[in-house]
Amino acid sequence: MLLDDEIIDFVTDEAPPAEPPENDEVWKLLIVDDDEEVHEATLFALQGIRLCGRRLQLIHAHSAAEAAAIMGHEAEIAVLLLDVVMESPDAGLRLIKRIRQDLQRTEVRIVLRTGQPGQAPELEVIRDYDINDYKTKAELTHTRLITTLIAAIRSYEQLQALNDNQRGLEIIVSGAADLMQAATLGAFAKQALAQITTLLRLPGDGLLCAEKGGPLAAAASEEVYIVAATGNLATYSGRRLDQLGEPEIAATLKECINRQRHSFGHHHIALYLRERNQEAILFVRSNKVLTTVERQLAEVFAANVATCFGNVRLVERLNFIAYHDPLTGLANRARFLSDLGTAGVLAKPGQVVCLLDVIHFTDINNALGQEVGDRLLIAIARRLSYACRDCRLAHIGADRFGLLGDEAQLAPERMLALMAEPFAAGEHQLQVDVNLGYCRITGGEAGGTLFKHADMALTQARLSPNVRHIHFAPDMEAQTHWRLDVIRRLRHDFQAGQLEVWYQPQVSLADGSLVGLEALARWPGDGAFVHPPAVFIKLAEDAGLIVDIGAWVLERSCDTYRSLLDAGHAPHHIAVNVSMPQFRQPDFPARVMATLAAHGMLATALELEITESLLLDEPAVVLLNLETLRQAGVLISIDDFGTGYSSLSYLRQLPIDCLKIDRSFVVEIDNGKGDLFAQTIVELAQKLGIETVAEGVETQAQVDRLRELGCDTVQGFLYAYPMPAGELAQWCAGRGVPGSMLN
Ligand code: C2E
Ligand code: CA
Ligand code: CA
Repeated sequence: MLLDDEIIDFVTDEAPPAEPPENDEVWKLLIVDDDEEVHEATLFALQGIRLCGRRLQLIHAHSAAEAAAIMGHEAEIAVLLLDVVMESPDAGLRLIKRIRQDLQRTEVRIVLRTGQPGQAPELEVIRDYDINDYKTKAELTHTRLITTLIAAIRSYEQLQALNDNQRGLEIIVSGAADLMQAATLGAFAKQALAQITTLLRLPGDGLLCAEKGGPLAAAASEEVYIVAATGNLATYSGRRLDQLGEPEIAATLKECINRQRHSFGHHHIALYLRERNQEAILFVRSNKVLTTVERQLAEVFAANVATCFGNVRLVERLNFIAYHDPLTGLANRARFLSDLGTAGVLAKPGQVVCLLDVIHFTDINNALGQEVGDRLLIAIARRLSYACRDCRLAHIGADRFGLLGDEAQLAPERMLALMAEPFAAGEHQLQVDVNLGYCRITGGEAGGTLFKHADMALTQARLSPNVRHIHFAPDMEAQTHWRLDVIRRLRHDFQAGQLEVWYQPQVSLADGSLVGLEALARWPGDGAFVHPPAVFIKLAEDAGLIVDIGAWVLERSCDTYRSLLDAGHAPHHIAVNVSMPQFRQPDFPARVMATLAAHGMLATALELEITESLLLDEPAVVLLNLETLRQAGVLISIDDFGTGYSSLSYLRQLPIDCLKIDRSFVVEIDNGKGDLFAQTIVELAQKLGIETVAEGVETQAQVDRLRELGCDTVQGFLYAYPMPAGELAQWCAGRGVPGSMLN
């Protein structure tokens, strides 16, 4: 009885021939009736029909109970064709209550079919339970059935779209709050990707977010970087887009960025995000063509995400600036400290902190210019990052780098070898020396403590001649306190005028005459104690105090020399020791000349003693100042000669007048070790046409041998101990005729 001929053209109208095969979606219809004939008739009537763009899938239930069970596990049922009278007279109506109230299935459309009009439910039921239609079976002709179904499906579709919209907007709104919380762009991207897959019900596989300019963005960069990726693209995170192994995806992303537009394809969704100057793409693999509603949602989502993206990017950039060194692009000190803190907590075995200090970097800067200095630092940073890939590397101060990592990778021998090759800085090839301070991580130390300990070890290495690397030991803490205390007292006593300058005579081996004096700083302590100059001079150099002390020693020395001149006892010259920090003063030569002038002294009456290592460390600065002083007539001697590592060819270029043979070689003359070094140094000096002074001469045997070797001058306890200025005039006056002191 359901059959008549009116159906027909609906079918062709509703079935678009060009439907893509993958859109094989259906409308699910649940037919509930205890009369098998009704099932068969319905099946027959709807066979092969497409409504509203989809095929129909009929599901059959023969009782209200069975229908309820089906509703319980079958999602997305669009329409229920429901008989009212089944196992009980109101079984259908009860089922409706069940569906709407208990199962909360509000979207499914319900069409009631009854045998007779008398079985009609009360109006309230229709109203309260959102029933689409109510028809007697007789009323539902073939055509009526279909028009009724079309109306129901349309209504279902709209309802679903509305629900989707609502759900989508909820995801977007609640998602935005989460996105704002993301601390890093990576975290942000992961969340955004997760949200869009939920929003559009996508499989969530192979997702990525690419950004123009990249993570460390040089602002002008046109390069596109993948800042986050998940699923099977996860390995590309942090790489450049052109390194992406999927050329089609890469092409889509490039096109998106170039055209500044979203792209919705059969297999992908790519959302173009722009906020201020930041551009990014959120790319998701897709397995469906989006509906209009979904597209609109995606667009709203994109707009929202772009704003969050801009904010997170800003925060991240601020973080980046706060934690990175702009010159080298490395982490900075603050970041390094926080990394150390984490390392202290994690306490992985075999981890060390290593601080690396470039010796005399300031002087390279002064001599060759800051630009060369900068390039040098960048070159060092590059080499370190390349060679210590698994380590945390930071630029923690002008000439300092910090490393955190595996003990083997940061081993001192390895690090020193690494730094041994010269660095290219502009047109210069610069050889640098470094000191290394180490501290092992045993666990539980605070970041600041680890840093302090490594720094103490570094200071120790810097203060110890011929030592390049030191590991922290607990007693260093005490030593550091001691050192700071000594520096404090030295500064105080110096300012209080308690330092003195003593003088040690230098005697000619040819005729025993007094040829010179060496000025030596003295710091009297409590009682008879005198602070050893070898110790406090080093500390003064380290604390920068030596510049003032050195200037004062020079001033005192010239004053003393002037008095000797006035008394008619002055030797040929007075020698004054000069430290590197003094040489770093660009006006050092001018200051020296001014002091000489103030005391009416000839430049040739002053000899400056510099150490070999000082020459080697920064030839450029030293050479310049040395040349200036030498041109003015000042004498230059190299102190402690033979303990450093001057090369012969280098010595030849230096404007020097004298080599001082170190006491250690003089001692060797009569302790059985031979005089090879003394001999070589004398020969060398003779070849260079300059003089030699032997230091620390204590025995007659040494004198005899030195004379045989051809050494010119001696200085040592055998002749005189260093003495204060007051005793000096007397000593000079009473020294007798030349030669009388020599036996
Ligand atoms: P130096 O320049 O090598 O000075 C020579 C050192 O040898 C002096 O030690 C001197 O007292 C000591 N000496 C001299 N004759 C003998 C001897 O026969 N036997 C022994 N065992 N020692 C002898 P001093 O005064 O303790 O100075 C130590 C170092 O401190 C100096 O070594 C120098 O490098 C530094 N120094 C001292 N005064 C100054 C100063 O005014 N400025 C700078 N920059 N350094 C200074
Ligand atoms: Ca000296
Ligand atoms: Ca010396």
